Amino acid sequence: MIKGKKGRFLIIDTGMNREECLGPMRSALKELDIDLDRTDFFITHLHADHSGLVGVLASDNSKIYFNKTEASFVNFQPNEDYWKKHFVFYAANGFPEDEMKKVWEGHPGFRYSSRREISFTVMEEGDEIEAGNYLFRCVETPGHSPGHMCLYEADEKVLICGDHILFDITPNITHWEQLDNSLKHYLSNLEKVYTLDVNLILPGHRTVWNDHRKRIGELQEHHRNRLAEALSAVTDGSKTAWEVAPFITWDIDVKSWAEFPSVQKFFAVGETIAHLDYLVSEGKVGKETRNHQVLYSRT
Ligand SMILES: [Zn+2]
Repeated sequence: MIKGKKGRFLIIDTGMNREECLGPMRSALKELDIDLDRTDFFITHLHADHSGLVGVLASDNSKIYFNKTEASFVNFQPNEDYWKKHFVFYAANGFPEDEMKKVWEGHPGFRYSSRREISFTVMEEGDEIEAGNYLFRCVETPGHSPGHMCLYEADEKVLICGDHILFDITPNITHWEQLDNSLKHYLSNLEKVYTLDVNLILPGHRTVWNDHRKRIGELQEHHRNRLAEALSAVTDGSKTAWEVAPFITWDIDVKSWAEFPSVQKFFAVGETIAHLDYLVSEGKVGKETRNHQVLYSRT
């Protein structure tokens, strides 16, 4: 939280719309003496763990800065039609119906998103937000989500990077209807951020490190490895993304694919689709639909 110009505060991302997040957030705001009537918000991307509480915390005179792409299709409502369409897509990629029912019950994006319609202040590449002594520039970084946006403070060399770069986990890169070839966008936006001069990088989760360039190198290697695993999985015949997913190395504390919780399987299949579609765009893998199933095979 940054005390802004004319006594306004700026909160960047908010946590999920659930009591377990709201309680600690309210205590922290009280401790820091933040007046929500004089507070604006910047949301890096649509995921519920970043955007979920903004509808609860924002006052009538709060500005809520949000990227143009996501503002155009999301208004933080539990939109059942959107989710149903989403599930039909996953079914075509082999995701079984019984697993899908569990995802429907447990998906955090459905359960913990904001529940009220929000009037956003739409931000684009290069737009600026003044807050206290800081001048933040918006840096568009689609990949993890279709309109993901970072904030960069050039004088202090501070990068607030949402989920674009994480340090002890890797950001989920999944299929998005609104972003063709999300992995390609993600990798090119890692290169974009690599060029920034950064002394302090503040990610949306877990550990804070300071060497963003070293981490970008590791993330690039991680995706190269994952692409190689996906390619190797379709070498001996065509497979759905659901069938390819168990061939990928996942960083999760269970012994086998069967033990993955359903929501984690859903995230893993989304990542698998993103990697397979990248291979299709490179001409290394073919993609066809047979009997309502999307099948990938080595070309
Ligand atoms: Zn996220």
